[in-house]
Amino acid sequence: MVESKPVLRALVNGAGPTGALTAFALADAGWQVQISDPLPAAVLLERSRAYAFTHSSQRLLEQLGLWSAVQALLVPFRSLELLDLATQRQVPFCLADLGSRRAAAPAAAVGWVGQHRPLMTLLLERLGAHPAITLELGTPPPHAAAKQPPHDLIVAADGPHSPSREALGIGVLQWAYRQNCLTALVQLRGSADDQAWELLRPEGPFAVLPLGDGLFQLVWSAPAQRCRQLESLGDSAFLDALAGALPDQLQPDALLDDPRAFPVALLLARRLHRGHTVLVGESGHRCHPVGGQGLNLCWRDVATLHRLARRTAAGRLAVHRLPAAYARRRWPDLLLTLLATDLLVRFFSNRSPLLLPLRHLALLLLAKLAPLRQLSLSAMTDGPCQLLRR
Ligand SMILES: Cc1cc2nc3c(=O)[nH]c(=O)nc-3n(C[C@H](O)[C@H](O)[C@H](O)COP(=O)(O)OP(=O)(O)OC[C@H]3O[C@@H](n4cnc5c(N)ncnc54)[C@H](O)[C@@H]3O)c2cc1C
Repeated sequence: MVESKPVLRALVNGAGPTGALTAFALADAGWQVQISDPLPAAVLLERSRAYAFTHSSQRLLEQLGLWSAVQALLVPFRSLELLDLATQRQVPFCLADLGSRRAAAPAAAVGWVGQHRPLMTLLLERLGAHPAITLELGTPPPHAAAKQPPHDLIVAADGPHSPSREALGIGVLQWAYRQNCLTALVQLRGSADDQAWELLRPEGPFAVLPLGDGLFQLVWSAPAQRCRQLESLGDSAFLDALAGALPDQLQPDALLDDPRAFPVALLLARRLHRGHTVLVGESGHRCHPVGGQGLNLCWRDVATLHRLARRTAAGRLAVHRLPAAYARRRWPDLLLTLLATDLLVRFFSNRSPLLLPLRHLALLLLAKLAPLRQLSLSAMTDGPCQLLRR
């Protein structure tokens, strides 16, 4: 008689971008998944923000069979201009810096930009329709005492203030940056529609991300008080301030939403698992938005969980060993990415006369040496651990 394999069950707390993708990853690995969020769908969708996606995220979406649908919602950028405004040094990253294999792929891109609402609309629709996934939105989080089917794995994807992490008594290392981050949607002239910008300004990094048809998402880091002041300006005063912050070739024409400032912090949980719960996404870590690493780092957690969940479903990893195996594999990427983003912010957010010559030299070498650009782009798009594997 053939013994049937037991069904593996997971509960995912949180249906933000990380929780949603985790549910797909576990279902793809053959698990039965329950995903819940106290917020109703309308609230989950209403965030006005855009994300820059790297190749590590593209790979995961591809593995989960979601890439072609998601790609249709994204705007690719084929060049990334890195410009240090204190030294006036500019380094263009282009498709060739991805390496010949990726640069030759059809629809090759350095990265992609997508808005939150269409992305989450697609993910929530697909979650609702997936036969192995039960989606519960707008319901209070399952109470510990409530009768629950036993879960082999609980995934805390409930954001930076994670109630699951707190309930497990897992502490965090964290500090708030003096900088806040302001996001706004604007119409700009002077940049191609497939060109993204990372401006290194003494008050903080500033990303300009293309959304097509002359629209750009700004992710503008600056001291907290400056962000609050910018947030309170009327449209024309905001556009004047923006024109003063951008390099001369970029000219803002219109402000298309209300600029919103949010605090920026570095956060790292002291452990990534306890019992059969794992912390995934911003419940476990948070970093400065420089280089657009945040959500991509969260999705690399999901990619690791996906691989381990498949091994468990195939009987090659005992389910009780999965949480510790997940944590072991995630530490190097998390530590290196948090360290790299922190160092970048400290190195470039100033006009220190001691650092300016070093910055000059670093950017000169980056502009002149293609292999150095390839290494930097690989660290940015696949995570810094890729450099150790070369
Ligand atoms: C104001 C703001 C603006 C941002 N703008 C940008 C940007 O422009 N570009 C960018 O790349 N990144 C941006 N970020 C960061 C980006 O939003 C995060 O990287 C991303 O949302 C992390 O996804 P997540 O799913 O891990 O967490 P979250 O998106 O925080 O999702 C967590 C989910 O858990 C749910 N939850 C809470 N408690 C419970 C519970 N007890 N049980 C179950 N579920 C629960 C929450 O309702 C929420 O839906 C911004 C962040 C903020 C705060």
